[in-house]
Amino acid sequence: MVPVMPASRKMDAIVVGLGPAGSTGARLLSQAGLSVVGIDRSEFPRFKTCGGGVSARSIPYLPIGWQSVPHEVTTGVCLTYDNHGPVEVDMGMPIAYQFRREEFDHFLLEEARKDGALIVTGVQVEEIGWDGSDFRIATEGGNLYTAPLLLAADGASSQVSRSLLNRTKKPGSFRPRFQRRSSVKHLGKSFPSSEINISGSNPVSPGLVRIDLGFVSGGYGWSFPKSRSGENIGVIGFSKPLTDPLAVLGGFVSRILPGTEGSSTREEPRTWFVPDYQESDRHGKIPGLFFLGDAGGLVDPFLGEGIYYAILSAKKAVSEILKHENHPKAASLSYAGWIRQDLFRDFAQARRLAAVIYRFPGVYFRLVQKYPHVLSLYAAILRGAHDYRSFSRSIGKNLLNLPFRTLLPRFKPNRTF
Ligand SMILES: Cc1cc2nc3c(=O)[nH]c(=O)nc-3n(C[C@H](O)[C@H](O)[C@H](O)COP(=O)(O)OP(=O)(O)OC[C@H]3O[C@@H](n4cnc5c(N)ncnc54)[C@H](O)[C@@H]3O)c2cc1C
Repeated sequence: MVPVMPASRKMDAIVVGLGPAGSTGARLLSQAGLSVVGIDRSEFPRFKTCGGGVSARSIPYLPIGWQSVPHEVTTGVCLTYDNHGPVEVDMGMPIAYQFRREEFDHFLLEEARKDGALIVTGVQVEEIGWDGSDFRIATEGGNLYTAPLLLAADGASSQVSRSLLNRTKKPGSFRPRFQRRSSVKHLGKSFPSSEINISGSNPVSPGLVRIDLGFVSGGYGWSFPKSRSGENIGVIGFSKPLTDPLAVLGGFVSRILPGTEGSSTREEPRTWFVPDYQESDRHGKIPGLFFLGDAGGLVDPFLGEGIYYAILSAKKAVSEILKHENHPKAASLSYAGWIRQDLFRDFAQARRLAAVIYRFPGVYFRLVQKYPHVLSLYAAILRGAHDYRSFSRSIGKNLLNLPFRTLLPRFKPNRTF
């Protein structure tokens, strides 16, 4: 019997992964008149392990109508050091919007569909190849798509990266690999992070983004108010990746919501990974290939903010594609240059900040206690008024003017991990 070959469907662009990065990319390309297929292995709405905090600087890049997605507005930052503090700064204007990712991502996906992208969800990508000019993606069910442009937006464990990047030296033939499931062992160095949604207890810091520097060694714990009277609580280690993030999360929740086990509704806690940008320099290696969002390592290593960079990278990739029409190589190289010159340089500064602040959180907390306006710099980043380089210059100026003796911590954190 002769095997039946699947019919291939020729598109202008393929997008793999339809989180904020992929849906934004698919929507913008469709709006520009390109034929686009977006493929995701999950059916939407789908759960995503995430705090769901979307910074105010992301808002201009969202499609009209985003306000209809349930959310809470946060207008300031509250900093604690275990049982010390809080120090609060309320800016009186939104600094971040708190969504549930299943609702936020579903909205973005439907907007891409409305703008004409062909959306294929709930199917595994079985084969990914590049023949020197076109990408070829085969999905379960026997569909085959080809296109000269591929937007890889398939998250921190990117199957596209694993399938294509070790084959770049011999691009002449299509030799697909079969990888049924993404696996965490492919993640290299990254930062495990756990979070949980809790409802039914009094909000820890209504209207504010709460950051705690005293409980999680080498990182921070957070609490974000969520729509429908709940909150998202999570932990991440940056200068010291957490070895058992679920245990740290359990301890942190008990610390900030003592005695609420019986009176609150708790969803299952989840753990996923924040990619390390330094492990992810996969940009500009294949003409026409663009790694967006987590697939490109685009999460800042100080706050762990990734949704903004997911959306921003999609916008930038599409603008390079349109600028370099019919020249996928020039578009990919220009996009890669932007990532290295702009984002990665800023992430390098974020990493330096993380190295100092998360190693000496007591000193930093004392600084903030004495000079609470330092906290407004967080808000300035989330609002887009500062990047990490200007943030650091501003903090540096504050530090140089201080009597250092007064910043030495006078208390010990009550850590159990
Ligand atoms: C615990 C935790 C909390 C976080 N909190 C925040 C926060 O509050 N604010 C913030 O800005 N960032 C936060 N982040 C980071 C943020 O979640 C990510 O940076 C963001 O989701 C990246 O978006 P993306 O579109 O690149 O990828 P994702 O949102 O991961 O989307 C990838 C999509 O690709 C699909 N996919 C994966 N593999 C395949 C495949 N082989 N074939 C087809 N489809 C595939 C997945 O189903 C998914 O829909 C957090 C991360 C963690 C782990």
